[in-house]
Amino acid sequence: YNMLDKVAKTLKLKKAEIDILTIPKRSFIFSLPVIMDDSTTKIFTGYRIQFNNARGPTKGGIRFHPELDLEDVKTLAFLMTLKCAVVNVPFGGAKGGIVVDPSKLSEGELERLSKAYIRESYRFIGPETDIPAPDVNTNPKVMAWMLDEYEKIVGRHAPGVITGKPIELGGSYVRDISTSLGGTFVLKEIVKEFGMKPEGTKVVVQGFGNVGMNIARLLYEQKYKVIAVSDSKSGICNENGLDIKQVIEHKKNKKSMKGFENAKEITNKEILELKCDVLIPAALEHQITKENAGRIKAKIILEMANHPVTPDADVILEKNGVFVIPDILANSGGVVVSYFEWVQNNMNYYWKEEEVVSKLEEYMTKATKGLESSCKSFRCNMRDTLYIIAIDKILQAERLRGFLR
Ligand code: NAD
Repeated sequence: YNMLDKVAKTLKLKKAEIDILTIPKRSFIFSLPVIMDDSTTKIFTGYRIQFNNARGPTKGGIRFHPELDLEDVKTLAFLMTLKCAVVNVPFGGAKGGIVVDPSKLSEGELERLSKAYIRESYRFIGPETDIPAPDVNTNPKVMAWMLDEYEKIVGRHAPGVITGKPIELGGSYVRDISTSLGGTFVLKEIVKEFGMKPEGTKVVVQGFGNVGMNIARLLYEQKYKVIAVSDSKSGICNENGLDIKQVIEHKKNKKSMKGFENAKEITNKEILELKCDVLIPAALEHQITKENAGRIKAKIILEMANHPVTPDADVILEKNGVFVIPDILANSGGVVVSYFEWVQNNMNYYWKEEEVVSKLEEYMTKATKGLESSCKSFRCNMRDTLYIIAIDKILQAERLRGFLR
């Protein structure tokens, strides 16, 4: 949590406050036996960290990854605590996962593993205690299996125990594009504060998966000029703007950006260094490092991926006047719509798509408005400012509960 150091100094935090912020409330390690298709038994390791619940039940995704360890889960759970405070949803933070490469398992094995995770954790999760969601390598299908196992054990319907479910099982409209749509609402506010207009604002998007493709499409529809996009294989660029609907169609048919008409091909490295107004890393972590930060020519970076900018790159960008909108705000639309899903489940009454969209806009705009002036008054960049705001909210809740004087 070295990012806390600077904030701790600015807020003059006491040792007890730092401890309460950095020591997880509950940490679980589960052993998950699964009968494999060949009738052998394999034991997998699962984790769940309920980091902080001062502001509400803990909330955070479940990740399936072969290199997952308890420290990763702890850091991600801490970041979820901050993210929920930043967008002001009444949740604390959690994260969980299983050490597994899901591509090596059959569908049946994956289902049995997902259900085993719930059999070990059902006593500690629930709509009022801890609410999981999808993360890397998990999806609505996995959420549906997990929901089913939980409901079978507790003997009643309990859709609010997990979010990111298929619509048919109590999922919410907009959840599939919530992260990207939330990012567009954040950008709208910042662009306004910069005195710019969507028309003519030049955008570059790295990554063309769930988040990158959807944000490129949404911004294109909102009349931004998307001049370049890329995926893991290649990138394309047209200074006058790409027709993103056609790019999506092309990629669907050809499985690649290559050969798209009216655009020149560029590499993944070059795309980050293009002259533009808004650069959107939406692929992987650690894309902008001290090696390339000095060559970034964007005015604004909207971090849709998690940790795309390394801490030493942050310093260079700040010195060069590049305004970074950090991941804990930019990509928090997903957790906001997860919150809406949970609310709808708890009241058993479901909203129309327009209703979800307008409520998402309200939450994202509220979290973004006035941030630039807060940065000035704290004399911090936006990342530190958001940490200050989030930590202040969490400590205030701890104080009201009587844990701090
Ligand atoms: P995804 O797997 O759907 O897409 C990733 C995309 O990145 C793919 O198009 C892939 O081709 C591309 N890519 C991989 N390596 C690349 C490279 N070197 N250069 C350019 N492109 C490359 O994943 P996603 O769900 O879109 O997530 C993207 C990022 O957003 C991740 O950092 C994730 O943690 C973060 N995120 C996602 C969500 C969500 O709701 N999906 C929410 C919050 C944060």
